[in-house]
Amino acid sequence: MTSGNTPTIVGIDLGTTNSEIAIVRDGRVEVIPVAGAVRILPSVVGIGDDGALLVGAAARNQHAVHPERTIRSIKRRMGEAAPVRMADKDYAPQEIAAMILRRLKALAQDHLGAEVNKAVITVPAFFSDAQRQATREAGEIAGLEVVRIINEPTAAALAYESRHAGARKALVYDLGGGTFDVSVVNLEGDVVEVLASHGNNHLGGDDFDRKLIDFALAHLQQAHQVDASRSPAAMARLQRAAEAAKIALSDAPFATLAEEFLLEHQGLPVHLALEVSREQYEAMIEPYIAQTLDAVHVALSGAGLTVGDIDEILLVGGATRTPLVVQRLERELGKQPRAEVDPDLCVAMGAAIQAALIAGTQTHTVLVDVTPYTFGTSALGERDGESYEYCYIPLIRKNTPVPVSKSEVFFTVFDGQPSVEVLVYQGEDPDALNNIEIGRFRVEGLSDVPAGNPIVIGLALDLDGILEVTAREKSSGLRRSITIGDAIARFEQGKLDEARSRVQALFGEGREAGGAAAADAAGPAVSAPGIDARRLAVEARALVEKAERVLEKAGAQDAEDLVDAIEAIKDALANDEAALKAAMDTLADLLYYLQV
Ligand code: AMP
Repeated sequence: MTSGNTPTIVGIDLGTTNSEIAIVRDGRVEVIPVAGAVRILPSVVGIGDDGALLVGAAARNQHAVHPERTIRSIKRRMGEAAPVRMADKDYAPQEIAAMILRRLKALAQDHLGAEVNKAVITVPAFFSDAQRQATREAGEIAGLEVVRIINEPTAAALAYESRHAGARKALVYDLGGGTFDVSVVNLEGDVVEVLASHGNNHLGGDDFDRKLIDFALAHLQQAHQVDASRSPAAMARLQRAAEAAKIALSDAPFATLAEEFLLEHQGLPVHLALEVSREQYEAMIEPYIAQTLDAVHVALSGAGLTVGDIDEILLVGGATRTPLVVQRLERELGKQPRAEVDPDLCVAMGAAIQAALIAGTQTHTVLVDVTPYTFGTSALGERDGESYEYCYIPLIRKNTPVPVSKSEVFFTVFDGQPSVEVLVYQGEDPDALNNIEIGRFRVEGLSDVPAGNPIVIGLALDLDGILEVTAREKSSGLRRSITIGDAIARFEQGKLDEARSRVQALFGEGREAGGAAAADAAGPAVSAPGIDARRLAVEARALVEKAERVLEKAGAQDAEDLVDAIEAIKDALANDEAALKAAMDTLADLLYYLQV
């Protein structure tokens, strides 16, 4: 940090929903805390009950109850001449934005113990000159000399250290609370050029919250015949519950929308406790994600490029933590997006790096602890159209910042299945047997229920590389866990491949031989998560396998019935789901009748 003659230049991400301020100190990028460990300031300004100015969380919290004296999303109004009204007074949009900037400036000064009077501020790539000028003015009103306005994707690329010797093309996918932007950038040395950008000013994580709120409202209407949307206080609480559930669903397969005493109806308290699965939630938000992918293609064609020209995808904005976003991007663009820089903070970090470049200060890379490996488990799934017991299901992906915890739901395959074996691997290969097995354990004593019993498997990796693996039967809470020390002190994948080839060569065998032998060992009798149809097909095949075993010992008449039922399933597999379910029911009945 410098002070006195060389004033500190800060980097500011003035966002629609949230804002952050960062600096480079001793060569390191630091995002300045707002309250405790929180480094995000909600971009909300308001006048409190006592007439005092509120900026940040306090203003956001009063919005639902006092919208007339609270201003949100002022960024959307930047560059407009029309004033905004707050507590019966008119303000220019620049003035409201300046209130946020002043608060950030004050936080930075307190933290650094030095005057802060220069800033680099970021704006979306599509901002017009008028919008940029208004942003500059907001800085000046706040007592900051705006030494440069830079584009948000440029800042993100700087934070991701995407500078390379040759020219590279990156796609910056930025999904925040209320806005979505995608930019195609050309990176060459320190120069970041935005080639094209596209987006939707009214699409973001808040829409995802809204879907969950609607889900809760429909439930309350159905279960309690109450319209909670009429109560602003209940809506404010629902909003918070929905956002919390949404965030939980980024790491776990289920979340509960819970609010005790949400409101009163006919003199009685109404409590909300509504479980939502990730699958249900993903179906709700799918259309929004499809819209963002359309925008990706518009940006690509605007830059005259195709999917194959993109060297990397950089994730920006809190809502990119949604697993479906990452999955869809990966599928659409054929590459794993980079997510190792905190997506909420990376624009502010990039602004600080730009500020340091202007000031001539040295910066190190944005230091984050990430896991160098992917960790996951295996499950019964499909490979090349065949059912395969060791499909690899990654839970914690390589380059995810640590500490991290992720969980996923799996399903038992057989009726009355008493146990599951959980295998834990490190590696990237879709065939789990090609990865390194780092642990395994068995969960016994599962409830005697039909196939499809949900088992939640969770992995939690801490900064010391200790991996905690848990398996929990969802219905009963039955739980088992193991701890694997030094989970990241293993072979690199490249070395692993070499070592495997060397060892296999010594034994004079191919990979398949080893794989088949190992597949005979007791494997995980759980099926992969995902689309119901796929699960049904896997279950159908398991049922057929069971029937084929029974067939060997069955009498002539039973055998004939079994063969018919098996054939019906095989035909239905290529057919529709309803036919398959009916055929499976017939075979299951038959097996029940044969008491196996
Ligand atoms: P930003 O404007 O970049 O700060 O992004 C804010 C949006 O990201 C809000 O809608 C947040 O609810 C959302 N968000 C933050 N964390 C997560 C998470 N873990 N999973 C999904 N959305 C998140």
